[in-house]
Amino acid sequence: MAKGYRYVECRAIGHSWDQIDDDRSHKSFGAALQFRCTRCYSVRRDVVSTVTGELLYRSYSKPDDYATSDPLDRNDWRLLLISSRRRTRRSVAKKPELKVVGGTGK
Ligand SMILES: [Zn+2]
Repeated sequence: MAKGYRYVECRAIGHSWDQIDDDRSHKSFGAALQFRCTRCYSVRRDVVSTVTGELLYRSYSKPDDYATSDPLDRNDWRLLLISSRRRTRRSVAKKPELKVVGGTGK
């Protein structure tokens, strides 16, 4: 990978969140939800209103070596992802059938 950057996928396309048990004591004003990225093990902690579903609070914990001093934006990371994929393309075993449901996606 160019310059040895880590976590290029997460930086280029976003984290792959898995919901995990939340170790915080329960908030009286909302439900505490905790997620961990399956690739880089970043953790996201949300508190969501149990009345409206609104996001009331969010924080992230990232690996120590996640931060980079290089001023790269999402486009740069996507280019790095493309170039790393050319070298280490993986074959996908068996894909489930997916339907396109939205217009532009996210
Ligand atoms: Zn990640």
